[in-house]
Amino acid sequence: MQPDGAKPLVPADILRAVDAAIEEQGRWMTRWHRALVCRIPAEPDLVDPRSDELTQFGRWHDDHRDDPLLSQSAFRELWQSYLDMHRAARLVAADTARDADPAEYDDVIDKADEFLTRARRIRDAFRKAVSDLDPLTGLSNRTTMNAELAAEYERAVRSKTPCCLALTDIDHFKKVNDTYGHAIGDEVLAATAGRFLSRMRPYDLIYRYGGEEFLLCLPNADPATAAGVLERLREALADRPIPLQDGQELPVTASFGYCEIDGGVPLKKVIEQADEALYRAKQAGRNRVVGYAEGKGSE
Ligand code: GH3
Ligand code: MG
Ligand code: MG
Repeated sequence: MQPDGAKPLVPADILRAVDAAIEEQGRWMTRWHRALVCRIPAEPDLVDPRSDELTQFGRWHDDHRDDPLLSQSAFRELWQSYLDMHRAARLVAADTARDADPAEYDDVIDKADEFLTRARRIRDAFRKAVSDLDPLTGLSNRTTMNAELAAEYERAVRSKTPCCLALTDIDHFKKVNDTYGHAIGDEVLAATAGRFLSRMRPYDLIYRYGGEEFLLCLPNADPATAAGVLERLREALADRPIPLQDGQELPVTASFGYCEIDGGVPLKKVIEQADEALYRAKQAGRNRVVGYAEGKGSE
């Protein structure tokens, strides 16, 4: 059972637990081999019918067994291979006075290898997931953004469907830090990302671009549609102050600049143009949405 108040697991927790399990497995197998090689009785936890529940990894699994991340098939298979390995290992270690049956011994080693292979695969996948996410906002970081934007750009150009890129920057954020402190600033940043996420279309993409700037990619949005989507995000932030953990409420606004992808203009340049529009939004008084083409006679 999941203990009362156990927080849902995040990828970083899985990474830590699986890393620890791999290390623990090495120490566990050393103790198991020692009993066999020296023909001494195995330590009680190695032959306990619940040996898998007595390890650090087993206790951790038990504490979180209802967690959605642990019910993913890759993790269920990892856990099953752990149980199989323990069952086989207990059998061999139950009587270390006799010669171990080579087939039984090989079976334990095969199962231990399978557990380790699965654990390393999960560890590598989660390591990637963790390094791709900005820890403060939970949004994808710039590394992921570069790869995904290149693909979106190609797709938009090839399929001749409209796609707009936007940059948004929180207004007077320095004042939030200066007045309330960096920790409150962090809280506001995370809450702002959450506000945006809650109002985005499912296929829109958002990245933490820099300090208090976010980049948005709006597939299938021509400039008029992009303006509407961004206006909704602007309102989502400006309409209600951000409630802080200490009970205070802080009014926060952001400015937006966007630009449509054009096959004749390289991706980097499109982002620069969105940035130019953002600059104009700031100049025009902040808390507003400005398109790059606005005022240039093409909209
Ligand atoms: P403007 O309306 O022109 O954007 O004004 P601003 O004060 O938001 O702009 P400026 O670029 O001067 O300030 C951005 C501030 O954001 C400065 C920096 O300390 C702060 N900042 C950047 N990243 C973080 C962060 O991760 N956490 C916190 N708390 N502050 C951050
Ligand atoms: Mg800024
Ligand atoms: Mg700012």
